[in-house]
Amino acid sequence: MLLPIVETSRPRFSDIATGPASISSVRVLRISITDRCNYRCVYCMPEDGVSWLPKEEILTFEEITQVVRAATQIHGIRRFKLTGGEPTVRAGLIDLVAMLKRVDGVEDLSLTTNGQRLADLARPLRDAGLDRLTISIDSLDPDKFRRITRTGDLAAVLIGLDRAEQAGFGSIKINCVTMRGINDDELANFARLTLRRKVTVRFIEYMPLGDAALLNHVDDHFHPGPAAGCGGQNRGDDALLPESEARDLIERELGPLLPVDRQSEPGVGPASVWQLADGKPLGRIGFISAMSAPFCATCNRLRLTADGLLRACLFDGGEIDIKTILRNSNESLDALAHAMTECVRLKPTVHSGHGGKQMSRIGG
Ligand code: SAM
Ligand code: SF4
Repeated sequence: MLLPIVETSRPRFSDIATGPASISSVRVLRISITDRCNYRCVYCMPEDGVSWLPKEEILTFEEITQVVRAATQIHGIRRFKLTGGEPTVRAGLIDLVAMLKRVDGVEDLSLTTNGQRLADLARPLRDAGLDRLTISIDSLDPDKFRRITRTGDLAAVLIGLDRAEQAGFGSIKINCVTMRGINDDELANFARLTLRRKVTVRFIEYMPLGDAALLNHVDDHFHPGPAAGCGGQNRGDDALLPESEARDLIERELGPLLPVDRQSEPGVGPASVWQLADGKPLGRIGFISAMSAPFCATCNRLRLTADGLLRACLFDGGEIDIKTILRNSNESLDALAHAMTECVRLKPTVHSGHGGKQMSRIGG
């Protein structure tokens, strides 16, 4: 069968048997289960006028489960991450978690959420078998948190974090997108969280993707830049705060950071991992530096969008439509697995630093 390749903007690596363009290197499948969200984070979505995917375009739970079966049975992939949009706004999330945990070979199922609904969902998610949680928090100041997320309530998210710990989630990760002039004054406060909580705070460099026209920061107010869109002018590139600066900011206030053995961090992904040397920290600090130090050479992930596109790279890269395969009743797990092999071959050697799709469409 000829696979419907939607976009191929990068060199192919058809002859390579190992390395990031080989399916044998893939360890994680990130699955976006919705493009919708109850937030409108300034770096991820425009405030108004977002057009959502029609419901019939979104993969059903049975279809997602079928993809996971192909990934485990044929490629031996064991780790899966549910993401969005905001995964907790998809009805039936708990059922999906339970369905996926019943698939043979699923060893690690995790979820990335903005945390707004976590207070009610933490326990049922844990009971359904979810292994790990990542919660995104970009400011510890309630007003700033609201301005960054445009609708979010920091207090609700922090209650969600407490409930998640009480429900038995260990090694919770907190994702914080670092943005110059927006939250760079708070990085040490985020790092301080690791002195009293057993969490890993991960600082993620802002990535200029899709319609995420990041803002200018003037007089303590955020002013959205001109609509960027694909090829737009203002992508807020000056908001990028490289890892080296972020580390300096933390070390100036809290003393040195010591490197931690990556193997000891569950689901470590592309992050470098550190710990504060002083103050007997319980938690750790990670940096995900896709802009200042691209980790494409060791990339071990594949992505599935909510509407059934396998995606090779977060930035520019190839996509393969597997909804067509899923909805053709004659196709087998082998056809899905073959599409995965083909998609991984579309990975760029090094990403371009820009991408045409906003993060909420890809899942981060
Ligand atoms: N809604 C969930 C959340 O926010 O955690 C899951 C989806 S979100 C797209 C996944 C991660 O991508 C979040 O941690 C978010 O902060 C991050 N993200 C979104 N847009 C980004 C951007 N332009 N640059 C860097 N990180 C971004
Ligand atoms: Fe929603 Fe997550 Fe994007 Fe924020 S980063 S708008 S919470 S999908």
